[in-house]
Amino acid sequence: RAKSTGKNNYKIYSTTMNRKFLKQYNLEKDLRKAFHKNELVMYYQPKFNTQSKKIVGLEALVRWNHYQHGLILPGEFIPVAEESNLIFKLTEWTFRAVCNQIKQWEKNNVLLVPISINISPKFFLKNHWDDTLHQIMNEIKVNPNLLELEITESSLIQNEEHFISGILRLKKEGIKVSLDDFGTGYSSLLYLQKFQIDTVKIDQRFTKKLLENHGSIARYIINLAHELNVDVIAEGVESEEQLTFLSLYGCNQVQGFLLSKPAPEKVMEKLLVLYN
Ligand code: C2E
Ligand code: MG
Ligand code: MG
Ligand code: MG
Repeated sequence: RAKSTGKNNYKIYSTTMNRKFLKQYNLEKDLRKAFHKNELVMYYQPKFNTQSKKIVGLEALVRWNHYQHGLILPGEFIPVAEESNLIFKLTEWTFRAVCNQIKQWEKNNVLLVPISINISPKFFLKNHWDDTLHQIMNEIKVNPNLLELEITESSLIQNEEHFISGILRLKKEGIKVSLDDFGTGYSSLLYLQKFQIDTVKIDQRFTKKLLENHGSIARYIINLAHELNVDVIAEGVESEEQLTFLSLYGCNQVQGFLLSKPAPEKVMEKLLVLYN
């Protein structure tokens, strides 16, 4: 059998490969045009203080409203952006969009809380990446205290020297820094001090496992972070039980579908006004 279908197998394999390649290629081509076609949209997800139950921050999560495929999630197009140089343009777009949003909410008297922006590790490889962010912030005249960068452990490890001076400069200006997906990489706790991390985000997978082993990993992260004066937020909170345990363990903030899904500007505005 193998003998007779050998050729066909090869054909199938090669067609699948081509299709995948073609799809990536088309996505990249479309993403390039998405900027001036205004297809990128910012969604926001609130972060709540565990004790006061108030909204104390927002996370900006980008979506792509593709003219043909509809809403595409970042898990699908961020890798495409990272493989091409579009990630630089995308990061600038998101940073600018968030700064403009803050200014608009400021003007309309909507409750102002810090907004965090996810930054891909690759962005930090750009020369003078900190100047780029600094310039946008200055041009729009946004209070740096209202901005937070969400970085991942791999950003800290790759290209450390290039990264540290920029991050410390922005921190001095008032921007906050949180370590996203904490516990999934290899970062040493020493990094929390070295990079002056304000908040660690417990990764969703630890939140999911919270009820197993009495949440030993989550508790461990919370206690160590507090020992170092670093706040802790848990992401992916989907149940009341998880919320109860997290507040019992002293986790400072929570974020997840239980409290609110990421939503567009107008929905968030209503939520923020309600809390004002
Ligand atoms: P992340 O920064 O860890 O963001 C959290 C992701 O978990 C978001 O998915 C959010 O919608 C989702 N989430 C929040 N609460 C829950 C929950 O209770 N249950 C479940 N199952 N999921 C929840 P999203 O928006 O699809 O983003 C995925 C990832 O894409 C983000 O992970 C982030 O790494 C990246 N990303 C998003 N926006 C941007 C951006 O503007 N720039 C860059 N470079 N990356 C971004
Ligand atoms: Mg994040
Ligand atoms: Mg995360
Ligand atoms: Mg995550």
